Amino acid sequence: MPVLCFGDSQLAPVTCMSQPAKASSILELYPEETRESAALLKQAVPLMMRHDIPPNPVHYALWYTYSKGQEPELNRRLDKTVNDFDSFPPETAVKLFRDYIIRGELEDARAGQQQVIELVDDIEGDVSRSVLGSRGYQLSLEQGLAALQEPIIDDLPNVLNDLQQSTQLMQDQQEKFLYRLRAAQNEIQHLRSQLERAHLAATLDSLTHVFNRHAFTRLLEQALSGNPQGVALVMLDIDHFKQFNDQYGHPLGDRVLQHVGQLLRDLLPQRATAARYGGEEFCVILRECFDSASAHAFAEQLRVKIQSLRIKVRRTDQVLDSITASFGFALVEPGDNLESLLTRADDALYQAKRNGRNQTHPGATETALSA
Ligand code: GH3
Ligand code: MG
Ligand code: MG
Repeated sequence: MPVLCFGDSQLAPVTCMSQPAKASSILELYPEETRESAALLKQAVPLMMRHDIPPNPVHYALWYTYSKGQEPELNRRLDKTVNDFDSFPPETAVKLFRDYIIRGELEDARAGQQQVIELVDDIEGDVSRSVLGSRGYQLSLEQGLAALQEPIIDDLPNVLNDLQQSTQLMQDQQEKFLYRLRAAQNEIQHLRSQLERAHLAATLDSLTHVFNRHAFTRLLEQALSGNPQGVALVMLDIDHFKQFNDQYGHPLGDRVLQHVGQLLRDLLPQRATAARYGGEEFCVILRECFDSASAHAFAEQLRVKIQSLRIKVRRTDQVLDSITASFGFALVEPGDNLESLLTRADDALYQAKRNGRNQTHPGATETALSA
């Protein structure tokens, strides 16, 4: 049976975000240029997050250039695109990339090293092959020189020497370039995972680690788009929680909420999504749920688990209290939208409260059907 302890912090907060790995080694290796580029990319990350733009190299390159602010027309077009569309259409991204980034790269090869991020992988392959090729070239030159005992043309050894030197120079430059590209790749990889973590953090409730209300609304909208079938919405609200806070204090109340979040995550079936809808109110979207009985069974399972939580004094094991929650649910019906489904589930929850709390109540239509 799960136990919440009062007094000492037995329940360590769940940390689901690890700290981003440090990229300092890369920055040390590449002082100014990379540091500046990295700073610009880091400015680009929140912009991408704000507009929910997926972290891929084309997008990084575009928003990096946006942060740089040297292409006002690109900035204008990016602003317009994110205003006109909810998402960021891939074909627009590629077009903007071609129009502004590749062109920019030709004009400013140095900045392009970071900007043409989409091409980094390809370029890296090309340059690797080229380095290998020039090594082969140099080797054949060396062999040719060694074999040249008696010069046929007086000046030929000098010509070959020059060629060898320039080949060496070319190889050095390419190796340097390759090295820098690899550093850029590492930095991009680092920023990509940073963005993914930041994106996750922006959708999660920091206390309970289930989705927050904003993410929930979007997920429910998604679930209801098209011709949805088999979607059920379960709502739960902890009973007399104000009284609990008043009696034991807000910090213990917070821990109860954390534990309810944990229960939700543990008991969640596949294809279900849990969210904190408000203070002590949670929602679960159940997919592939075609009958009232399944939604009811899920809610009841959760209700019993919550009821079985015991709040104890750690040192004495003395049971202080337990908590309960009330549940309402509704199954999607033809013509439902976010609001109508939420309203039916919320009304059902209200009924559960009115009927005495610590129980599950089905939504209006389900009541009619089962009556
Ligand atoms: P009911 O059974 O009718 O739901 O009663 P209730 O007391 O739970 O409902 P009410 O809406 O009156 O109070 C909700 C309480 O939830 C008030 C508030 O202090 C508490 N609450 C909301 N958010 C948090 C939170 O993040 N942490 C803690 N500890 N308490 C919270
Ligand atoms: Mg409430
Ligand atoms: Mg409540």
